[in-house]
Amino acid sequence: MSETYPAGSGRYPADAPASQALFDRARALVPGGVNSPVRAFRAVGGTPRFMVRGSGPWLFDADGRRYVDLVCSWGPLILGHAHPEVVAAVQAAAALGTSFGTPTEGEVELAAEIVARTSVEQVRLVNSGTEATMSAIRLARGYTGRSKIVKFAGCYHGHVDALLASAGSGVATLALPDSPGVTGAAAGETIVLPYNDVAAVEAAFAAAGPEIAAIITEAAPGNMGVVAPRDGFNAALARIAHAHGALLIVDEVMTGFRVSRSGWAGLDPVEADLFTFGKVMGGGLPAAAFGGRAEIMARLAPAGPVYQAGTLSGNPLACAAGLTTLRLADDAVYRRLDETAATVGRLASEALTAAGVPHRLSYAGNMFSIFFTDAEVVDYATARGQDVAAFKAFFHAMLAGGVYLPPSAFEAWFVSTAWDDAALEQYAAALPAAARAAAAAGHGG
Ligand SMILES: *Cc1c(COP(=O)(O)O)cnc(C)c1O
Repeated sequence: MSETYPAGSGRYPADAPASQALFDRARALVPGGVNSPVRAFRAVGGTPRFMVRGSGPWLFDADGRRYVDLVCSWGPLILGHAHPEVVAAVQAAAALGTSFGTPTEGEVELAAEIVARTSVEQVRLVNSGTEATMSAIRLARGYTGRSKIVKFAGCYHGHVDALLASAGSGVATLALPDSPGVTGAAAGETIVLPYNDVAAVEAAFAAAGPEIAAIITEAAPGNMGVVAPRDGFNAALARIAHAHGALLIVDEVMTGFRVSRSGWAGLDPVEADLFTFGKVMGGGLPAAAFGGRAEIMARLAPAGPVYQAGTLSGNPLACAAGLTTLRLADDAVYRRLDETAATVGRLASEALTAAGVPHRLSYAGNMFSIFFTDAEVVDYATARGQDVAAFKAFFHAMLAGGVYLPPSAFEAWFVSTAWDDAALEQYAAALPAAARAAAAAGHGG
């Protein structure tokens, strides 16, 4: 096998010549060499690994190295890479034609599966989580006739203009755009509040209630690292929004069909008006959705006046991958995800404790991350208080040990049901050296 370590070393070299050569080419052709920023490794430094193959819990890079994968394509792959039944379903769908631009039975089946698993009555399929949240916000504005949106600092809802405002401070502020190209007009209708802070939400509604169309929140945030909502936080959002005639949009793009059969709402039920989904429901192909009460969804074209469309929406290959993944995701799958996540997190925490590295293991269902801090993390400000240098050292030592962690201290770690003894062994073997590296690089070192 080409994919084992150099004889006896237990570690891969720090350089990755084949990936580096591809990255050099890519940078000449694609801005920053990548098609989505975090992939470029800028938060951790070094050469991004170009992957050539995935199988079960493993990723294989262009240098022939094998990694245990804790990214799982940023969440979708709950069954691991190249699950045989998912691959077969996509192959069968492709053989029948890749896209028709007409309605197909697969879309009806996928919609039925989503409706059966969640509290939404109707659902519209789109191609990405960004499209789902963008469309949900348009629908909320169209339904309420209002313009302002409340979001929380540190919550990511895709790169929608109005939602690229996360200028979070401890006070309610009208947001400034986070990115050049997002106009003040687009971001100025967005009110950014600190996460987990009910009083800030009440104050924002007291000040601007009649203008607020919706609150949008991650069901359980995973895009500032994993920060679970405090008990009752999501319920309070529903109560406050509804008291003021606004909608609650719960973004389950990351949590949906991962942390339970339905998503976070399966663990912490909430009276949301609209939900957004993505990632797992596409089974690794581009598919996402938004849905809610039929009365609200009926405002969407062609049933109603709020326009929304997509050439490839409900694509047959994506529907086949998503439907097969969801049909395989039974209670045993969720039990296994929960157990694996508990074990993987605990082993990392034990290694860090043994090396004297301050850290917080933070779970929301089977989604988790580690913050390199000894302070409680409840929002974006406290998440940013962590020791990023310690994470970088930890990340690179894990990579050298054959473990592919998310290349940022502010991302969730994802497991799949494909973890086996070999994956767990390779992961566990990498931890002690990584924990020592974190200790040496951290504030205390
Ligand atoms: C990933 C993500 C999105 C964006 O989905 P894309 O498919 O990347 O556009 C939106 N919301 C949440 C909570 C996400 O995790």
